[in-house]
Amino acid sequence: PTAELQALDAAHHMHPFSANGPLGKEGARVITRAKGVYLTDSEGEEILDAMAGLWCVNIGYGRDELADAAARQMRELPYYNTFFKTTHVPAIALAAKLAELAPGDLNHVFFAAGGSEANDTNIRLVRTYWAEKGHADKNIIISRKNAYHGSSVGSASLGGMVGMHAQGGIPIPNIHHINQPNWWAEGGDMTPEEFGLARARELEEAIQELGEDRVAAFIAEPVQGAGGVIVAPETYWPEIQRICDKYDILLIADEVICGFGRTGNWFGSQTVGIRPDIMTIAKGLSSGYAPIGGSIVNDEIAEVIGNTEFNHGYTYSGHPVAAAVALENLRILEEEKIVEHVRDVAAPYLKQKWEALADHPLVGEAKIVGMMASIALTPDKASRAKFASEPGTIGYICRDRCFGNNLIMRHVGDRLIISPPLVLTLSDIDEMFERILKSLDEAQAD
Ligand code: PLP
Repeated sequence: PTAELQALDAAHHMHPFSANGPLGKEGARVITRAKGVYLTDSEGEEILDAMAGLWCVNIGYGRDELADAAARQMRELPYYNTFFKTTHVPAIALAAKLAELAPGDLNHVFFAAGGSEANDTNIRLVRTYWAEKGHADKNIIISRKNAYHGSSVGSASLGGMVGMHAQGGIPIPNIHHINQPNWWAEGGDMTPEEFGLARARELEEAIQELGEDRVAAFIAEPVQGAGGVIVAPETYWPEIQRICDKYDILLIADEVICGFGRTGNWFGSQTVGIRPDIMTIAKGLSSGYAPIGGSIVNDEIAEVIGNTEFNHGYTYSGHPVAAAVALENLRILEEEKIVEHVRDVAAPYLKQKWEALADHPLVGEAKIVGMMASIALTPDKASRAKFASEPGTIGYICRDRCFGNNLIMRHVGDRLIISPPLVLTLSDIDEMFERILKSLDEAQAD
């Protein structure tokens, strides 16, 4: 019975990013099954999952092909490592497939079990790269405030979440954060174009201040996801690319959310028009069916790193079952033309409806790229005023109203966000909008 499960959960299970006292997780909804874009809970309620789990179930739930791929691989070779001089077919095939899909000369993959581990790999990769080139002091990584790059000590240091930095002794040394390109919240009197340029030029100012010979890399999400789906103004990314080129700074695109179709291309870097030296991947790589991530690096980095023994690796780097599942996921994404479905069908339809949300009295800006979108909630559109973001305030009320209407939509401060499975049909989108509007109207009445 649900109540019994909830009691056991409250007694023994510590939830990530939650208050684990009685108020935080008591009465958590128990999800038991899922198919397509719908979850079912232990009471038999069907919930439309507009977050694709945690931005990851790109092909939707319940695809037997992935279960079969996992079972086949478990029977044949459930585990072996890829340390030293051993390898196996799923890791080889997946690395080769990723080299084919990734743009430019991003041809080499270092596997991990998720995005946090992959970003930890990146910290050590870029520092080792510069050390091998005789620039051991070129070891500062610049990131952005309000970025999310994971929860391990290294990746959370790269991230710019104030609440995370307040706990557990992070960031580690030699990580520097510049401001995010969030025009709605921080643009003041500037136009979005002016603001985009100004925020990109903070990278140049930081490099000049810290020293060109000290800055190893800049890391960013093509579209900032967990920070609230912050879409940079159009002027931002070309300027960032120019600055990285000018000062010989490696550009790391964290594609953990943006990769594998989310933005209407295989990778978010293609959508925003940048040429990263390293891409972090996870989530949509296996559509969340198995824990796997990695770093895809360019030819030059692979060659330089190849000159030394890189003393880094995880027991589950290239795990054969996870790799087999990821390969099957990529086959489905490709053969069923899901990226094209996003670009040509689902995203244009969603965009037209999403942007109309700006007419709702509670909504300020409505931003969308492909199948990730956000709205800023505001008490006054003209001044772009903010609601408070403490528990009990509007973001929480909206989220709870959505949950009550069997819709999973997340809130980040004063923004509400979605990132649904990419296989959402047009009628799923209509259904999602009915629930979103009902929830917003109810929240307004509260
Ligand atoms: N990078 C980005 C952009 C993410 O959104 C996330 C997770 O949400 C991570 C890294 C961390 O990935 P994981 O939770 O698989 O460690």
